[in-house]
Amino acid sequence: MVMPSCDPNDLEGSTRLIEDLTANARQVQQQVLNEILTRNQGTEYLHGFLRGRKGRDLFKKKVPVVEYDQVKPYIDRLANGEPSRIISAQPISELLTSSGTSGGQPKMMPSTDEELDRKTFLYNLLIPVMNQYVDGLDQGKGMYLLFIKPEISTPAGLTARPVLTSYYKSRHFRSRPFNRFNVYTSPDEAILCPDSKQSMFCQLLCGLRQRDQVLRVGAVFASAFLRAIKFLEDHWPELCSNIRTGTVSDWITDASCRDAVGRILREPNAELADVIESECRREPWEAIVKRLWPRTKYVDVIVTGSMAQYIPLLEFYSGGLPLVSTMYASSECYFGINLRPLDLPSDVSYTLLPNMAYFEFIEADKTDDRGETGSVECNYTGDLIKVVDLVDVEVGRYYELVVTTFTGLYRYRVGDILKVTGFHNAAPQFRFVHRRNVVLSVDTDKTNEEDLLKAVTQAKLLLEPLGCLLTEYTSYADTSSIPGHYVLFWELKTKASSDPSHIDSAVMEDCCSTIESCLDSVYRRCRSRDRSIGPLEIRVVRRGAFDALMDYCVSLGSSVNQYKTPRCIQSREAIQLLEEKVVGKFFSRKLPFWEPYTMMEAKAG
Ligand code: AMP
Repeated sequence: MVMPSCDPNDLEGSTRLIEDLTANARQVQQQVLNEILTRNQGTEYLHGFLRGRKGRDLFKKKVPVVEYDQVKPYIDRLANGEPSRIISAQPISELLTSSGTSGGQPKMMPSTDEELDRKTFLYNLLIPVMNQYVDGLDQGKGMYLLFIKPEISTPAGLTARPVLTSYYKSRHFRSRPFNRFNVYTSPDEAILCPDSKQSMFCQLLCGLRQRDQVLRVGAVFASAFLRAIKFLEDHWPELCSNIRTGTVSDWITDASCRDAVGRILREPNAELADVIESECRREPWEAIVKRLWPRTKYVDVIVTGSMAQYIPLLEFYSGGLPLVSTMYASSECYFGINLRPLDLPSDVSYTLLPNMAYFEFIEADKTDDRGETGSVECNYTGDLIKVVDLVDVEVGRYYELVVTTFTGLYRYRVGDILKVTGFHNAAPQFRFVHRRNVVLSVDTDKTNEEDLLKAVTQAKLLLEPLGCLLTEYTSYADTSSIPGHYVLFWELKTKASSDPSHIDSAVMEDCCSTIESCLDSVYRRCRSRDRSIGPLEIRVVRRGAFDALMDYCVSLGSSVNQYKTPRCIQSREAIQLLEEKVVGKFFSRKLPFWEPYTMMEAKAG
């Protein structure tokens, strides 16, 4: 039961499997924990707390709930060549670089070969779930735009790379269901092309060439799909000319990618090129997805969490096709799936699959006297937290997810806040609410308030020689165009004049690039390598703008005494209010420095 196999062709069998897993969620969770403890009781980590003993109660009493800082020393030791058994009985085959960062560098999560089977199990379940809701998906193809990212080797030779890169490069991905029947428009060679521009061009080319057969389109996150649309906007004449002549552009130099695309292009097709060209010429690009891929039934992209900001733009381009968020996963482990994929994005809930990991939940709303289950315990900082099991969460309440994985993480706080919306049998269903501490996110970047403050503090030093002070700031992610970018509203006080519009634009542009250079490596990668984030912008507002913001927040019920300027604003009204007071807009003119993070820290550790 812990690791059943799922045949994606077998609708009935898969449905029964989901029913069994969810109906027996308590028992499955207990089995998962037993298995993890039995396997790993001899690891240095668990032995330090349990001294070879097992059992759920002891586990909960002795093993602390931790964050990355407590795990990092072990990860650093693995990176430097110490044996896997410090945390895991099974060999740690690689480290997965998460979009969460620690000290500016990506967090790294341990993984094992066996975990790829667990991921495959979850991916396989998505197919019958979708087939239950949408008919005829086997009558055509899926255009999934998927990309790999750079990887590095740790000082001891362990590979460190993002979780999806690891999966796409695995044999599990190559042998994914139906792949050998060419049901996806992107050849594996194009997905695995390390040059992201060549990869994007080739995948779109193949998707356009096979447009008549495409029944669904997608990417992992909404931001990546919209980036593809933007790329198409910039490159459609060249894509059409490739289709017209039946030859791939010369700058596609990746040999295996070129060959694979050539096999799909086959011969000149002027008729198809004409049709695509005439659609692309028609402005605005409303419903372009439906126009270019007319048989498409839905757009498969995650639009929950920070990706919800892209819904309006996706609706515009897709012409109202259903937006489907199928799964909830992370580098730590894959968590669960959406059992009602056609629900509106605002209603999407994920059912955590009880065999993926041992799940616990820290109560994240005000604790009251309701519910006697769970234990109150002290975390490593001495704060009291209340932790409950998967099956004991209550509908309507908020929790932070804690996982114990098969790969060496024990009672690890993922940082996601979830709300329980209901149950499927005994397994709770969760709406993703937000990520703890994150204030700004455009793509996979996750900037928290503290990092933003540090970056602003550094940048505002540049104002000092001008006799100018930063008195207030706030921010928002402007995703009204692609790529989205960070916008900071700054209120300045100048000694010489009260009119900040005389601000030196070169200095302000330097402030923008200084902020970017201080943000973490995931931001800098998205901005400099992936170009999935546009230049950071500072909008200087008139004096008094932030007083007006305060008045507005107070009018909505904030207490005047306790009012603190929000460092990130989301409400349209609040943004509009500041927008009306903007006296100058400045953009970063430099790309921040980025290189695949160094392992210097690990070496030192
Ligand atoms: P990473 O560690 O970089 O793989 O990022 C994993 C994080 O992405 C999760 O912990 C969530 O915060 C976010 N995430 C993943 N899947 C979803 C989803 N379906 N909806 C909202 N946020 C998600």
